[in-house]
Amino acid sequence: MEAAKPQLIRETFPVGPLQCNCTIIGDSLSKKAIVIDPGGNPELIMARLEAHGLIVVSIIHTHAHLDHFLASGQMKELTGATLHLHKEDQFLWDSLEMQCRMFGVPYTPVPAPDQWLSDDQALDCGCGVALHTPGHTPGSMSFWFPQDKLLIAGDTLFKRGIGRTDLWGGDYSTIERSIKQRLYCLDEDATVVTGHGADTRLGDEMRDNPFVRA
Ligand SMILES: [Zn+2]
Ligand SMILES: [Zn+2]
Repeated sequence: MEAAKPQLIRETFPVGPLQCNCTIIGDSLSKKAIVIDPGGNPELIMARLEAHGLIVVSIIHTHAHLDHFLASGQMKELTGATLHLHKEDQFLWDSLEMQCRMFGVPYTPVPAPDQWLSDDQALDCGCGVALHTPGHTPGSMSFWFPQDKLLIAGDTLFKRGIGRTDLWGGDYSTIERSIKQRLYCLDEDATVVTGHGADTRLGDEMRDNPFVRA
């Protein structure tokens, strides 16, 4: 008899006041999971983890715009998991109250990140790797799961769109370079989970994205 191979469990759903896509990635054998961008609705995220029988080991963030980490403190409290962010977005994490005021969203304090994410760092689950893809924010990250051809792109790449670069620390030529050099070199059959709205296929963006083409 063949040993059971670990399968990647993946579920994405919109959360919070700005409907950011939160993603759960879990390992079917070890039951370890990571949560990406818990921007709200911690009770819903906990219910989905429980439905899959998963235990969260780390909570990771594509970037520190308010809508991507509003529930991170509550998720840390509920699970004991650590919080991870690229250091170049620390200034945004630290300005959560100002961001909430600006977007008219109720403010909930979030503790400081426990660890800094770095480029090419291995993730705690699913053989994933973190890619530093600045431009939307200086510390924007994408998360790549090569075995499952799955790319979590945050607000860097959208279906037929790219992230805005007019907010704090955003830069158009930087996001263009990140998308071309770090994302468009990945498998074109990859499913791209974006920060808001529908998934897309990487090859379709390489050909048809109106802002950045391969
Ligand atoms: Zn954003
Ligand atoms: Zn966003």
